[in-house]
Amino acid sequence: MRVKILPVMLACTLLLAGCSASPSHNDGLIHVVASTDVYGDIARQVGGSAVSVVSIIDDPSQDPHSFEADAQVQLSLSKADIVLENGGGYDSFVDTLLAGAGNKDVVTLNATTISGYATPDDFNEHLWYDFATVQKVVTRLVTAFSESQPSKAAEFTSNGAKFSESLAGLQATEAEIAETSRGAGVAITEPVPLYLLAASGLIDKTPPAFSEAIEQGTDVSPLVMRQTLALFSSHLVKVFAYNSQTTGPQTDQVLAAATAAGVGVVPMTETLPAGRHYISWMTANLAAVKAALA
Ligand SMILES: [Zn+2]
Repeated sequence: MRVKILPVMLACTLLLAGCSASPSHNDGLIHVVASTDVYGDIARQVGGSAVSVVSIIDDPSQDPHSFEADAQVQLSLSKADIVLENGGGYDSFVDTLLAGAGNKDVVTLNATTISGYATPDDFNEHLWYDFATVQKVVTRLVTAFSESQPSKAAEFTSNGAKFSESLAGLQATEAEIAETSRGAGVAITEPVPLYLLAASGLIDKTPPAFSEAIEQGTDVSPLVMRQTLALFSSHLVKVFAYNSQTTGPQTDQVLAAATAAGVGVVPMTETLPAGRHYISWMTANLAAVKAALA
């Protein structure tokens, strides 16, 4: 993850470290800071009108991997009651800034820790495409909100139950896809949608060197590019899931090859498309995969 913390931040960090007071809000709301608008939306769905949510990474046109945290981010974190982050190296700036924010009472929910998954070197940190992990995060949010405002525990529990029902619907769609298309090949530009594709019984055939290079923003070797393009000309894959939030000449070349070969193309982003909520977004992603397989 290539996120940078601006030098001015370090000054702020030192400044804020001096005043180690816990956040005091007198608006009766639970103040949540989420590292991305995906987690922000999930927190809002569970918390309802009892929460105020700030999402740090929320620009659908920007590559989240090149996000730069600024003084505003530091300030939000210093005043948070609850911080919801992805972890797994995806948004490590949050922990770095929190460490200097002097916000000693903050409750931090880390999706990677909550998932219970091991994090080997090739760990796929895009956990919001993993509905089992999102379910665990929702359960933790209900608990954290209920501990923060016990009088609203019933409301949080009911919101959480509604969200879980929708998640179960998404998992049912994955099972449906697996029933008809288990073992079908897919290609990706980055590991972003892999949890969803794997849970739908689909096999990633992309040379790892290709998706790693794209994710790191480095050049793909001619050999690896040839291997990737051959997936389409030889019809080894039925779906091409590409991260439309991070494109370039190399991904454009592969997109053109997929289109030319008549392979179903599915754009999938890291953060919420404009105007979308988590459930409707993932519902649309699954519908697009189904259509591409048809
Ligand atoms: Zn990514």
